[in-house]
Amino acid sequence: MTRYIVVVGGVISGVGKGVASASMGRMLKEHGFSVTAVKIDPYINCDAGTLRPTEHGEVWVTDDGGETDQDLGNYERFLDISIPKANNITTGQIYRAVIEAERRGEFLGETVQFIPHITNEIQRRIEKASEGYDISIVEIGGTVGDFENIPFLFAAKSLEHKYGRENVAYILVTYLPIPSHIDEMKTKPTQLSAKLLLENGIQPDFILCRGKRALDDVRKRKIEVYSNLSPGSVISMPDAVGEGTANTIYVIPLDLEKEEFAERLMKRLGLEDKRKPDWNAWRGAVERITSPERETKIAIVGKYLDIGDYKLADSYISINEALKHSGSACNARVKLGWVDSKDLEKNGSDPRKVLAGYDGIIIPGGFGSTGVEGKINAIRYCRENNIPFLGLCYGLQLAVVEYSRNVCGLDGANTTEIEPNARHKVIDILPEQRSVSNKGATMRLGAYKAMLKEGTKVRGLYGGAAEVSERHRHRYEVNPEYHSRLLEKGLLFSGMSPDGKLVEFIELPESGHKFFVATQAHPEFKSSLMRPAPLFRGFVESCLKE
Ligand code: GLN
Repeated sequence: MTRYIVVVGGVISGVGKGVASASMGRMLKEHGFSVTAVKIDPYINCDAGTLRPTEHGEVWVTDDGGETDQDLGNYERFLDISIPKANNITTGQIYRAVIEAERRGEFLGETVQFIPHITNEIQRRIEKASEGYDISIVEIGGTVGDFENIPFLFAAKSLEHKYGRENVAYILVTYLPIPSHIDEMKTKPTQLSAKLLLENGIQPDFILCRGKRALDDVRKRKIEVYSNLSPGSVISMPDAVGEGTANTIYVIPLDLEKEEFAERLMKRLGLEDKRKPDWNAWRGAVERITSPERETKIAIVGKYLDIGDYKLADSYISINEALKHSGSACNARVKLGWVDSKDLEKNGSDPRKVLAGYDGIIIPGGFGSTGVEGKINAIRYCRENNIPFLGLCYGLQLAVVEYSRNVCGLDGANTTEIEPNARHKVIDILPEQRSVSNKGATMRLGAYKAMLKEGTKVRGLYGGAAEVSERHRHRYEVNPEYHSRLLEKGLLFSGMSPDGKLVEFIELPESGHKFFVATQAHPEFKSSLMRPAPLFRGFVESCLKE
């Protein structure tokens, strides 16, 4: 039967529950268990597709076309499995399902209530997503004490009633601040979080203590005593990124292993090792991140928004991670520069200056007109100066706009997304998207196949595969009416949809450019430390070449 590990957060949001859950999952996987993970988001949106990435972080896309919370990305990158959209549960989905069932008459004669109808639906979804796995990690978003968390905590308790206390473990992830005026790590917020959890009927089995530094033994004991925990239940999980650290989240499963967390957790759930863990490959990949032999500088030319005084770089987290995976595979540190595309479209701005010092440029996915001309300027600079370029989704579309304008001589070429009456509509809405009016979950979403052309760079990077599958999230495409003009002028369509209609990959011939590749897909969503995305790997390798 499936064992459940319920992860809740305390003290502050953004404490790293997702990475903690993912790391725990990897750790248990190395001990031979099949592991999945479920993310619960207490917001009313039915999915993350309608949230603003610059506020909420990136929208993750699953193989089965879900637009989900980015934590599913963490889970996939650590667990190396494809996680379906059903593993991201939101309050919106729950209420929608219950209300629709009520309208269908499924509860005729009943008063439909928060308990048990809402909590039953939550439990049903958790069970369904966990089916067939030895262990399911259920991460409840937000922080204990949030009003909106309550139904999910209640549902977790119901799991315990159904399957027995021995088959459900609770983990509280907290943060231990070190106020600068006293320079001492404070345990009180953690103690209070444990108390709050207990008010919901949940006694944590383990407390994972996040903080700038490792937790000392004195404080471990203090938290154990206060929270009524047995010795060994408080686990230190210091920052893995920042000054004086390994500077990579991928070190965390190794750190947790050092704390003998796997043994303790397995013991708590009545499990024994299915195999002895072999961390060699993982450790090797981590070491190539912490002490690589080479280095390259890459810029992501994107849209960045400040939230008050802070910038959220989370909107491109998967690209960032994909570059780390590829950097590790190439034994190289990838130094990332975040270049605001608006800086490349100001009057008189010179891409040679703004982009000086970068070995390669990525144009990520995006929507709308902000900074688009800046991105096009960056692409032109790459094409004309033999600078490695990787375009992702919007990046492909804008590369086609640039090529149309500056190589094919199509003045006024544009995407109809920002200029509906463009003179040359080289990027146009997909035919099946024309009638779409509802915005939620209606893009061309999820995994689609592409057929790769023999002899192309892209096919070579995918190990010679004739057919590949990558994830998508878009409404526009290269307008078929312009295919022949682009091809005549030397652009190579290295991959097309199986029906031959939609351009999935483009490149410039190797004779003319060392790396100019773009895709309508988002290969960053299928990159993991153990299996870097082929296009990213090829791109990083070419950035490393003199
Ligand atoms: N805005 C473009 C489209 O909808 C590109 C989307 C993206 O980059 N994900 O087609």
